[in-house]
Parts: sequence; structure tokens; C-alpha cells
Amino acid sequence: MNRQPKSSLRLLHGLAILAALACAAAAWAQDVPPGRDPKQPADEAYTAKIRKYTTAPYFSSPLVDYLPASKTVPTPEAVLGDVAGAPGILPYAEDVYKYMRMLEKASPRVKVYSIGRTEEGREMIAVAVSSEENLKHLEENRARLAKLADPRTIHLDDAEADRLVAQSVPVYYITGTIHSPETGAPTALMELAYRLAVDESPYIREIRDGMVTLITPVTEVDGRDRMVDIYRWHLANPGKFWPPLVYWGKYVAHDNNRDAMGVTLKLTENVLNTFVLWKAQVLHDLHESVPYLYDNTAGDGPFNAWVDPILTDEWEMIAWRNVSDMTRLGMPGVFTHGVFDTWSPGYLMFIAAMHNGISRLYETFGNAGADTVERTLAPDEYARTWFRQNPPLPKASWSQRDNNNYEETGLLTSLLYFERNKALFLKNFYLKAKRSVTKPAAEGPAAYVLPADDPRPGLQAALLQVLEKQQVEISRASSSFTVALPPKKPAKGPPGKGAEEKDAAAVPATREFPAGTYIIRMDQPYSRIADALLDHQYWSPDDPQKTPYDDTGWTFGELFNVQVARVTDPKVLTVAMEPAKDVRAPGGITGTGDVFAINNAAEPALASLRYRLRDTSIEAAEEPFEAGGQKFNRGTFVLRNANRADLERAASELGLRVVALADAPSMKTHPVRAARIALVHTWQSAQTEGWWRQALDLLQVPYDYISTQTVAVEDNLNAKYDVILFPPVGFGGSITAVISGLPTAWGNPLPWKNTPETPNLVGKNDSTDDMRPGLGWSGVAHLQAFVEKGGVLLTVMDTARFASSIGLEDSVNAAPPQKLKSVGSVLRTNLVDAASPIAYGYGETLSAYCDDGPVFSLTSIVGGRGFRRLGAELGKRPTGRGTLTDPDFTPGRAATAIPEEPKSEIWETPPVTSEQLRNGYRVIPPALRPRVVFRYADSHDLLVSGLLEGGDEIAQHASVVDAPSGKGHVVMFSINPMWRGETRGSYALVLNTILNFDSLNAGRKLAEK
Ligand SMILES: [Zn+2]
Repeated sequence: MNRQPKSSLRLLHGLAILAALACAAAAWAQDVPPGRDPKQPADEAYTAKIRKYTTAPYFSSPLVDYLPASKTVPTPEAVLGDVAGAPGILPYAEDVYKYMRMLEKASPRVKVYSIGRTEEGREMIAVAVSSEENLKHLEENRARLAKLADPRTIHLDDAEADRLVAQSVPVYYITGTIHSPETGAPTALMELAYRLAVDESPYIREIRDGMVTLITPVTEVDGRDRMVDIYRWHLANPGKFWPPLVYWGKYVAHDNNRDAMGVTLKLTENVLNTFVLWKAQVLHDLHESVPYLYDNTAGDGPFNAWVDPILTDEWEMIAWRNVSDMTRLGMPGVFTHGVFDTWSPGYLMFIAAMHNGISRLYETFGNAGADTVERTLAPDEYARTWFRQNPPLPKASWSQRDNNNYEETGLLTSLLYFERNKALFLKNFYLKAKRSVTKPAAEGPAAYVLPADDPRPGLQAALLQVLEKQQVEISRASSSFTVALPPKKPAKGPPGKGAEEKDAAAVPATREFPAGTYIIRMDQPYSRIADALLDHQYWSPDDPQKTPYDDTGWTFGELFNVQVARVTDPKVLTVAMEPAKDVRAPGGITGTGDVFAINNAAEPALASLRYRLRDTSIEAAEEPFEAGGQKFNRGTFVLRNANRADLERAASELGLRVVALADAPSMKTHPVRAARIALVHTWQSAQTEGWWRQALDLLQVPYDYISTQTVAVEDNLNAKYDVILFPPVGFGGSITAVISGLPTAWGNPLPWKNTPETPNLVGKNDSTDDMRPGLGWSGVAHLQAFVEKGGVLLTVMDTARFASSIGLEDSVNAAPPQKLKSVGSVLRTNLVDAASPIAYGYGETLSAYCDDGPVFSLTSIVGGRGFRRLGAELGKRPTGRGTLTDPDFTPGRAATAIPEEPKSEIWETPPVTSEQLRNGYRVIPPALRPRVVFRYADSHDLLVSGLLEGGDEIAQHASVVDAPSGKGHVVMFSINPMWRGETRGSYALVLNTILNFDSLNAGRKLAEK
């Protein structure tokens, strides 16, 4: 590769000065050559090792191919025992922190801050590196940045903003190793901190004096320690296969970088708080899965629809400049754009994009550990494309040091460019905030409004708490108010209804909201995150991007099942209102009497209450009723012998409104017992079920966490459990994957347990001597017996397919779609059987998360499944006399009456005919036929948010089915009701199943034959 020799850079430098004198070609004139200051001695031993561990000279740069010496400040070697990126060395988080604190002690240019704890109690830190002068005046600087971040404080005065910009130094926040098998960032960031603190070269000095670099060296701390364990096991067991990293954090693996919307993980919350507290301009997140440095700051289309165009321009400027700088340094394989689209705001870096900063992300190249490995790339990785003019090499020896060289060089060139242009970027920071504040008049909407009379105050509070975590200001109306609503366009429904709807649309609509209504004003600095979360998404099926990188829809009001009005009428901003802080749903007891009723509005807190008051008997009403002047839904909790004080305390903590009644209502009830729950996982992937564990833990619903291997050896599951949850497992729920597990015919056992080498692996999760065996056929038999004997097995998406394929029930075919494209979209579902306990508390429609089904088709006849219902295709007349709707006739014969065909809807179990009942040994008796609880909406009504193509294939099909089997039930979901903390509105479908496990047949109407 063509490394530019330093002398030619100097020559260019000199020429450029001449040019700058002649005209103002300023960029080159200001260039600072990268490389060490000859007056400052290098740490020769450390430098020699850098060069030794770098596998080719072009995998390094003059910025990192040496280490400046210091008499007082320790190098990373002090903790690592070798240089950063050395083969065989991966430090635990606490070693990284130990080094950062040594730096802090030895240098006035470094400060370490504790920024919070993880789910497993480990510390997260942020390290600030800058000049002594800057660190001394951090608070004054922060105060200036705070004014730029909230332009209301300077009355949107651009001249004042310019003065503040001129006095301020920016903050550039770097986060490392959120993805645990991507192991290089911690050592790269240790060394980067050292360089920024110690190096006296003009290049580094300019960065140090001109800005604050803030570093979180380990973002997923729990996962880092597990990954280091695995690597140590690998070193201690040479020649053996090592266990794959099935758990990263306590709950999720790769999805920890999809939490920036819901903010349910500690790492997201801690980074978000740090970003906002520091009023940082950039959040730059480091990943390692693409050779050699993919700057996907810019990414591909479609870009997120809610970000300011100023930001998308910044993405391009920064990314291309970064590519250019590194290409000029002679480093191959640096590129931007590529396959990643920038639609979803769920990535960690998007905390910046949604809070008026700049989101950035690197994929460098890692070996998932610190081994040096000969790496051969796939053709599409080394191909030269329009966005990758200088691609990586098809084959190369690659070391962790190479990776560290790329990470540090990329960051240093970025930091210098940012520092050079800080006036521009700080002004943009202000302008983006200002445009967020002027949003109501400039672009709308004026506000989002959450009415005080929402029937689901608990879920409403949960949604508002997400906004609070996102640092969005929430207000509460002091009195009732009325606003104009945009006229509704006539819906494109079935013909015949259009005329009335058109007339209705002509009348300007208004809506009155009661006092206490929540208002999310859009004239605030962080209006964009609220807008992005509460608005609807539309991804066109014709979009040139055919492979969305992640979910395409997420509308939080819909997924939380709460009312959110998008209000464009600016009058809403003049309503008398007060700031709402620490929003909580009101709870407690009203009224007098010994019987207590808690309305069921499908709020998850009901399940928390059931488990908290374990010894109190609770019943569920099987019909709606009125009492004490109030209406109560089906599923309402009725408590006859509760201790009022205990109930009062629990209800107020959980935000549940309890009504005391003099007499028990008279309708039929059944007991709501605290079911004994098992949640089953495989040893191949614990990602998607992790969101289920998290949801249950946050609700304090207890469960045993067991693997398919435990099911394989547990003869009597019914003795321990009432309900077994089998959330999605990934890999399509294939029978082979679930039953067989990983290959055991060769290789060595893969233990997941704590040993001297691996003290952190298990945490509070599960363990095994060998991750390879799966459910096995004995496990299948145990699950079957569990259901036969009365257990409830809850299956979701791929595990529903699994249950159907292995015959755990006979009546539901769960097929992968052929044409449907619903990529993490929000689809509308309709209530079919309100009397089913699974539906308790729900209204007529529910928006749900759907990621390509599966498509459920029901049958009444064993062996008759797999029949795809075609709807309109059925019942078409044959060729003959008359018009389409006339009957045919036979010449020479009197017309005979045609017997009526039994008709059924797409989602229903088809009724059986008398012909089928003749010797009908395959006909499933009515009581054992599946009961449809929810179905997907009709095609024209199906899409709520995101991408939907080929929706006909799943429209009207069942989305939640209760399939009786033996004495038990297999409950099957085509939607995913517990996903990333975003689908709280559908949690109650799962919780209702759990709470009513032994009464799921309540209210059931059976077919006559
Ligand atoms: Zn990653």
C-alpha cells in the first residue's frame, strides 16, 4: 500500500502555505502533519512492541505507530503487562478502570466519573481527557454548552449563541465495546486516553487544548467480563472449541444496541444521562464486525424521518472527511455508506441524533478475542464499490493491534477534524436545538396530547416515563381545553360508505381534553425524540432499500395501547399547564365495603398485584358489570377477604385504582391463582427471550428460568409448573435446532459454568456442563405430557411453528409467509373472542408487533391442516347460464334447491360438514378445537406503522390462538407480545394467560357439531 512518506507531506505543507498566501485555499495551509514531536522522547520498548504486533505497515499510521514517553504517567502496560492490542491479552472492565484511575492520579489532564451501574451491579465510567485549563473550567464550559443546548435560555438570540460558541470547547463522547464479542475498543481507548494526556505533538496538542474527549471504555460491562472469561477459557484449553457467548448482559445480547427508544437497559440509561449531562456534541459508538473500518455514520437510505437535515449533512461531512484522512494516511479498507440504513432510532448512537448531537458509529475489524488470525474475506467484503474505492485486502493476517491502530487513527483524525471545525459544529448544535424549539410554527406538530381520561393510566404513565428517561419535558393541563383537529381524509374503505364519510370530513373537528391531560410541547429542545417515538412510520414497499436493517415501525402510543393525539393546532401551547415531574399512575382505594374490585384494562400491574398479595384470594369476573356507579370490564379482579391496608399499599405503589364495594357483584367468577411459571431457553440463543425475562422481572412476576436440557430430564413438569413460556428462540424454531441442539458427534463439551477461568459466566442466569444437547425427544415427550395433563404451554412466532410441527397440538398450522413483508412492523389486530380470559381488558383493536408472522390457518380435522384459506377464492360459481350471482340449471330438469354451504371467516376454525362427520374419527370435537382470541385486521386496515407488503397473506388470519390439547392448552402467538420494552400494550395477553391458566375455557361457546 502507498503510505505517504512524511517528507512529501511536509512538502505539500510548504507548497500549501504559498498557495494560501496567494489565495485562500485554507484547508491545506492549516494541516498539521500527524506524527510524533521529535523533541518528545518515545517509549522505545512500547513502540517496538506496537510495531511487532502490527501485521503490516499499512495497517498502522504515523498517529499510532509510536508511544510518547512520560516520566510520570503510566502506559497501559502498567495494567496489561503488555501494550494495547497485544496478542493474548483482554482486560476485564475493572482492569480498564484501574488504568483509567491511574491516569487520573498521574495526570491533571484526566478525570474519571462513575456514571451508574449495570443490571448485575458493575460500574460504568466516563473518562474526560483535555487540557488542565479546560478541565479546571469544566463547569463554566458546561454552563455555556447548556445555553446552546437550550436556546430558550438565551431567547433564541443568535448573536449571543455566536459569543458562546466562540468561548466554548466541544465535548466528543466515545463509547466502546457495547457488543461483547467485539473486543478491541477497551485497549484502544486506554491507549488513546494516554496519548491525549501525554503526547506533545502539535496534532494531539490541538485536540487536547481545543476540546474535551469523553470516553466510556466499556459500555456492556457485564458482557465484557463474560467475554474475557470465555477468552481465558480458550487460552487455558488450547486446541479445543470454546463456548459461544450466549449471554452478554443479563437480558440481551446484540439487541443492547436497539434500546435507545425504550431505554429499558441500564447501559442505555447511563449513556443517555451522560450525553445529556455533558451537553456533548457527538456520540461515537465503536463496533467491530466489518473489515477494516466501516464508518456507518452516514449509512444508506432511508434516513430517519425525524432528524434535522443539518445532522444528515454533518454525517456526510464527517464520514467522508474521515475516509479521506485515513486513505491519505495509506490505510486500506476505510469507507462509508454501505448497507446500514439509518431509519430506526433504536441504536445507542441515536441518543445523539435525537438530542441535537451527532451520531457516529465505526465498524472496525475484530477477531472476537486477542488471537492473531489469518482472515479471508468474502467477495462482497473486498469488492470495490462506489462507496468503497479503497477496499480491504481479500486475505491478510490480522491482529488485535491492527484493530486498535484503525480505531485510534480513525478517532484521532475525527477528533482533529471536529476540533478544527468546532465553531461550525457548536453553532450547528445550537441551531438544531433552536429548530427543535421553533418546531411547532416551522414544521409542526404543536404538541402530542395524552388525555387524562385514558382508560389505561398505568400504561400511560409507563409511556410518559420513557419520555422522562429521554429527558423530554412533560406538562399537565390545569383545566380542560379544546383544540382543532386536522380534518380526516375520507377512508378508502369498502365502496358504498364513502359518501357519508366525505360529508363528515367536511366539518372541522375539535376535541376537548379534560383537566390533568398530559401535553408534550414540541417547542422544547428535545422535541425530536418525542416526535420520533409518538409519530407513525411509513416505509414504502417501493423504497429502493429492500433489506431494512431493523424494525420499520415502533409508534409508542399504539404499542403501549394508550391514546396519543398529534395536535397541530398551535392553540394547544397556550393552554394553562404546569410541568409534570415523576409521572406515576394514581393508585389506592376509594369507597367503603369489604369487597374490592379492580377494573381490568389489560394493564400489566394487575399481574404484579397477584404475585405481591400471594396469600390473598382473587377472582376474575367472567362478565362485565356495574357497581358503585362504575363500569367494570370482564376479567375485573374481585377480592373478598383482602387486608385493606396491604391492598392500599400495593395498589398505590402499583398505580392501581381499587373500588371498595358493600356487596360482591353477582356474576360468575373464577379464581386467579399465582401460577407457577417456567421460562424455557435454548443454549444457542438467549437474545429474544431476554426481553421476556426483563419484562417479567420489572413486573416482579416470578418464574424459573430453565433450558431445553432441563425439560429433557424433567419427567413431571406438571408437578413444578402450571405455565411454561417458550418465547422465540431464533433460527426459525427449526426442529433440528431445538431438539438436536449443537452437534455432539464430534468436538468437545462446551461448558457454561463458573470456574477459576470463568468466574463471571453464570451471573444469575442458567448454567450447564455442555451447551450442545438440545430438547431431545425426551423433552418433546415431557412437553407433550405437560400439556396433556393440563399444563399451559405458551408459544410465540418460531416456537409456535415448532409446537405445531411436532404435533403438540393438532388444529393450527403455522406456516412461514411466502409473499408477506412485515419487517418489525406495527399491525392492527381485532378482538375476536372477548370472553376469552386471554383478552380480558382489551378493546376491539390492538396494535401489535409483527415480524413476518407466521401465518396461522386453523382446521377442525386432524391431518387436514396446511390448508391455506383463500377467502374470496372460495365459493365462486362455475361456468353456466345466467350472471355471476345466478344459479346454473340443467336443461330438461326442474331446478333443485342448492344446500347451503357452511361459511366461515378466514380466522375461524372451519365448521364441519355432515359428510365429514360420517365416520369422522379425524374430526376434532368442538371443545378441543382452537379458540381464536385476536386476528389480524382486514387488508386495507392492517398497517399501523412501518413496512407492509403482501399483507393479504396474513390479513384476517388469527394472531392469538388458544389451542386446547388434552386437558391443557397450547397458546400460540403470531405477533411478539413482549419485545424490547416497546410493546407494553400487548404484555397483558401473556399475563392474562398466566393468571387464568386453569380457567382458559371460561366463556367459551362451542360449535354445535
Ligand atoms: Zn457491533
